[in-house]
Amino acid sequence: MSLLIKNGEIVTADARYVADIFCEDETITRIDRDIAAPPDCEVIDASGKYVFPGFIDPHVHIYLPFMGTYAKDTHETASKAALVGGTTTFIEMICPARGDKPLEAFELWLGKAQGASACDFTFHMGVTRYDDEAQGDFEEIVRRGVASFKVFLAYKGAFGVTDEELYKTLTLAKRLGVITTAHCENADLVLELQRKLLAEGKTGPAWHYWSRPPAVEAEGVHHLMTFAEMTGAHVYIVHLSCAEALQEAMHGSARGVKVWVETLIQYLLLDRTSAEADFEGAKNVMSPPLRDASNHDVLWNALAKGFASTLATDHAPFDFAQKQMGRGDFTRIPNGIPSLEDRVNLYFTHGVKSGRIDLHRFVETASTNAAKLFGLFPRKGAIQPGSDADLVVYDPNYRGVISAKTQLMNLDYNSFEGMEIAGRPSVVTVRGKVAARDGKFVGEVGRGRFLQREPTHF
Ligand SMILES: [Zn+2]
Repeated sequence: MSLLIKNGEIVTADARYVADIFCEDETITRIDRDIAAPPDCEVIDASGKYVFPGFIDPHVHIYLPFMGTYAKDTHETASKAALVGGTTTFIEMICPARGDKPLEAFELWLGKAQGASACDFTFHMGVTRYDDEAQGDFEEIVRRGVASFKVFLAYKGAFGVTDEELYKTLTLAKRLGVITTAHCENADLVLELQRKLLAEGKTGPAWHYWSRPPAVEAEGVHHLMTFAEMTGAHVYIVHLSCAEALQEAMHGSARGVKVWVETLIQYLLLDRTSAEADFEGAKNVMSPPLRDASNHDVLWNALAKGFASTLATDHAPFDFAQKQMGRGDFTRIPNGIPSLEDRVNLYFTHGVKSGRIDLHRFVETASTNAAKLFGLFPRKGAIQPGSDADLVVYDPNYRGVISAKTQLMNLDYNSFEGMEIAGRPSVVTVRGKVAARDGKFVGEVGRGRFLQREPTHF
């Protein structure tokens, strides 16, 4: 089985040229002008379109028990949504409860995804408890191909780790060459501020912001920088939302900490006023919270200049009925603003089309950097012979509007409802097979593969 993509303008992190891409089975085997199609070859005309490497979302939640309920997507619905939006690989967070055995959690999450996902996937292993038994499990999980950890400095009493556990996790990560991704907020400050606000009768979704203001996130980042400095471990700050937190990361970086920063499409386009509209605002509650709009320019600039390496979603879909759990108590609103389906199109529209991000930086931050940081490059995140044939033929002339009515994410709302997009994938391939066409899923559920990764962060 072969596939030929003709006359597209290939754009990668460092190159831009018109050529044909020939794929045999699952792999790109040749890139050249005027490649002739052999018999039985599927030919796609990409004239007037870009061809990007498949996009990677390095931070999603699909199977997610949280606050007594479960996120709405399955691996089937999430992967279909990802693919129509141009995302061909996602990295899911394994979030065990504190009492769970890590290895069992890994097998549970892997079992949920295998045979159900239409796109390729891998995991960050959540470290929510650290003791000798857990350490043995983490070593085994790394041997099985998960080369990254996730720690929560927030969510005290649930996913959060103590400082002793953080130190031991980073020490192990350094020894194994594993990068540690971290949710940075000071858990005790969040808890005390939540108590204070609730005691004052401040219970609506708008108060969520005030329980986790920028200083709380900046303190979390500062804390992580200190521990990374002491251990030499490589760290990756997930969902960085504001200037104050970025400053702390840059201070760390300036003194030699090996740190990378991820931000989210939500933080570039939405602001805290969208969580303030009565209880409807609960739909836009996540942590860290949406910030003042003044942070938009800071984060766009961080992506453009390289202070931030990746743009993700922290996809975590809870429908409006589930959000009702937090009526009368904002601390009980399940967290998440789903955007797995829309990340690439919104980023292209507001980044590339409006001139904030050039095409190469767009590809780098939405695909290539995640592949490099998490041990997937050049299998993913590249267009070159030998790479997986994950390709996005992208139509920059498409015009459309985002709506929950037409989305494939299993959810009854979309926080970007009504926003226009100026660009959409025409064809999306996963390892040489067409999986999405013009907003429709045409792939194969269960074909997605678990991507085993080697540690690279020594
Ligand atoms: Zn997350």
